[in-house]
Parts: sequence; structure tokens; C-alpha cells
Amino acid sequence: MIAATGFAKRKVAVFGLGASGLATVRALEAGGATVLASDDATAKRSEAAAAGFKITDMAGWNWTEIAALVLSPGVPLTHPEPHAAVRAARAASVEVIGDIELFQRAVTASGTGARIVAITGTNGKSTTTALIGHMIRRCGGEAQVGGNIGKAVLELDAPTPATIYVVEVSSYQIDLAPSLAPDIAILLNITPDHIDRHGTLEGYAAIKARLFAHQSEGDTAIVGIDDALSKDICTGIGARRAATVVPISVGKTVGRGVYAIDGVLYDNAGMQAIKAGDLKEMRTLAGAHNWQNAAAAYAAGRALGYTREKIFAAFESFPGLAHRMEIVAERGGIRFVNDSKATNADAASKALGAYRHIYWIAGGKAKEGGIESLEALFPHIARAYLIGDAADSFARTLDGKVDYRQCGTLARAVEAATQDAAADGAEMRVVMLSPACASFDQFRNFEERGDLFRREVQRVLAETGGAAA
Ligand code: ADP
Repeated sequence: MIAATGFAKRKVAVFGLGASGLATVRALEAGGATVLASDDATAKRSEAAAAGFKITDMAGWNWTEIAALVLSPGVPLTHPEPHAAVRAARAASVEVIGDIELFQRAVTASGTGARIVAITGTNGKSTTTALIGHMIRRCGGEAQVGGNIGKAVLELDAPTPATIYVVEVSSYQIDLAPSLAPDIAILLNITPDHIDRHGTLEGYAAIKARLFAHQSEGDTAIVGIDDALSKDICTGIGARRAATVVPISVGKTVGRGVYAIDGVLYDNAGMQAIKAGDLKEMRTLAGAHNWQNAAAAYAAGRALGYTREKIFAAFESFPGLAHRMEIVAERGGIRFVNDSKATNADAASKALGAYRHIYWIAGGKAKEGGIESLEALFPHIARAYLIGDAADSFARTLDGKVDYRQCGTLARAVEAATQDAAADGAEMRVVMLSPACASFDQFRNFEERGDLFRREVQRVLAETGGAAA
């Protein structure tokens, strides 16, 4: 755990008692602060109380005695409107910050020189964070991975001179971290999302841009330039001439940057472009979206001083993340892919784009717009296996364009898809769950859905002694 220093013998309010909120309470207490903790949700309050935390009612807080309000990223800071705790803090001129801010202050105060790699973007944050953590470890470094993924930052090990923190930060967390100054800051992309929480797309982009605001000479800014907003941010950072800027792209060559063309990664940071390696050979980094993540990770690896060879060796052994185009089995020319995280058509389009001959399991709780936007990718689908509430509407979209079967349940879909794939002579076949739907009609969450897919694949392969594949 990292002790949150700077508030010893003072009172700090913590609002929002999820995993990161509770970690914050512990870290502040370890740093000698007196903590006032609360949450709107009765369930959260009683869970925290049961875990031994002292919970108080916000109505009884005396804001004139409180040094700071530490807010959970899930609690509205600005939009649709500031939460009552934020309004009360502001009225009393109490600073409002998040756990990432406490983390940054603690790392700075430690004087250890521990480094911070921070990753943000609308999509690909978790994959890139996990990939960089894996790369650092494979290259012999001491990575501590957390933030929006896995452990809360304050739960990570205390800093040492060798520590490299790799933290995934959402825009909510950046918004609450005014002095965040990563040694390596990465912005992957910006597309419309979470506008409800940030007001406008420009507001959302402005917050992402703040990740770079306190970087200085010797730091590295790695920015995807394939969307207009991120590109503008990249230009802005370049103009400030503080950090070294490394633009990254998939599909375009870039001067003094890193880019992927047809899956081959090029490094143009030096005098001339060199071929860094072939991403098409990295089985857990399939698809153009993952090439963007890999380009960012590669640039981070170079900034950390690792060689091309070591970085690519690390990419090769990257296990990938569960539920995101996760390869769960490979048997007799059939690859089984769990992409349960694809809860909308846009996410599913990435997975469908990554393979050519797909036995596609889709459906669940339908999202606005259905799968009409996927039509250009229909030629990649050998057959579709429909499940859940959305099955009928998906069938109407596919009718006459893609062969499909109504399967009802995931178990039946896995069975049918595996049988069909096994009977097919094509060289590389993929049985993939990439549902383009939420899971709530049949499952608790996308993780439960993906776990069932994995088990059903194992069951079908075991029952057929692998002969199905
Ligand atoms: P995040 O943590 O930002 O939600 P993840 O790494 O968990 O991102 O990936 C979630 C989904 O987003 C993936 O299943 C994939 O469909 C899509 N995705 C991943 N990386 C990218 C990227 N660089 N650009 C666009 N979409 C991506």
C-alpha cells in the first residue's frame, strides 16, 4: 500500500466507497489523517461498515475543519451536475481531488524517482496498460500495474527507485488529479463516449489533454493521431516544446513517430524509418485496434530504453486480457475467441475486422442501432449463431445476407458453431463470441457470459475428444 502523506493530523473527507474509495481511506489513515467516509448507497455504506470502516453521515460533516474531499471517479464532479458533496466542499473552499492525485503527491514526496506511465483514451486503455506492464516485466523492470484496471493505485506497492507504475486513468480520474505529471503519458484515441459526464466532446477532449499539462523535459508524450481531437492535442503538446512527443498512427506514416502499415510496425523516431516488427505475428494483438495499442506500448518501451527485439519478444508472450478477443482454445485449425466485452456493435466491429472466416455468436440485450453498422463486415462471417433477446432483430438484419441459426442459449450456440467449423475445410476458422449486446438478459455481466463461453468450449472439446475441432 502507498501511504497518502500530506494530510497528517488533518481531517479528509472521502466520498464514494467502492474499491478505490476504501483503498483511499486506508492510505489516508496510514498517512496519519483522520478520515470522514461516506457514500450515497446504503449497500456500499453497510459493506464498508462490515469491513470495519467507520462511516459517518455527510450531513454532520463540518467543512471548515476538512482539508480535502477525495471523490470517487464515479461521483459526478461537474455533469450532469456536481454532487452535493462537491457543492459543499466548493462552498467551503475545500479542494476536491481523487485517489490518483493522492498517488501522484505520494510518489513525488517519496523522492525515490519512481516513474509513472499513465494511459488514457476512449478505447484500448486496459489492453495497453496490461501490455505495457507485461513488457516492463519481461524486459526486467519492476512494474506496478493498476488504476482503472485491477488494483486501485493506492493499493500498489510503495515506491522504490526501480518502481515503474503503469496506471490506467479514465477522464474522470484525470479531472480529479490536477498535479498528475506522468514520465510517460499516453493518449490512444478520443471518440464520443461518456459525454453525459463531461458536457461536450470538446470538454471531454480538454480533460484528456490535461494528462500532458505538467510534463516537462525528459518526459514522453505518446499520442494517437488517427482522430481529429487527439491530433489537435498532439499538435498542442508539440507547440509547448516540453515533453518529447511521439505521434502514433495505424494506416498512415508519421514523421518522428511510430506507425503500423498493414500490421507492420515502423519506428520513425530516429533519422529514418526502420521496421520494428510484424504485429500480424502477435496472436494476442490481432486487429488494427490492437496495433494502435501495440504502437503506443512500443513507443513507451523505447522511451524506457528497451530494445526493439526485447519489446517484440514481450509482445509475443503477452497473454492478452480476459474477454477482449481472448483466445481460449486452439484446436485443429479452429481458434476459439472470447470477446464478451464487445457489448455494442462498434466493439464487435473490431473483432469481426480482425478475422476473415468467423462462426459468430452474437446477441443478448440489444443496443440502439442493432448490428446494421456491421454490414461491411458481413463477408467475414461464415455463419451467425443468435442468442438472447436481440436474436430476432439481428436475424432480420442478417436475412438474405448472412447465413444464421437461432440458438437461444450460449451453450447451444457454442455446440453448433463448433460442429459447423469442424466440418468446414477452410484453413483458419474462428468460433467467436462477440455479442454486440449487453449481457443482462441472460447473465449478471459480460464477465459471467465470457466465463460460460470458455467453459462451454472446453466442454465441447472434451466431449468430442477434440475431434470436433
Ligand atoms: P478500455 O479499457 O479503454 O475500455 P479495453 O482495452 O478494455 O479498453 O478494450 C475494450 C474494447 O475496445 C475491446 O474489446 C475492443 O473492442 C476495443 N478496443 C481496444 N483497443 C482499441 C483501440 N485502440 N481503438 C478502438 N477500439 C479499441
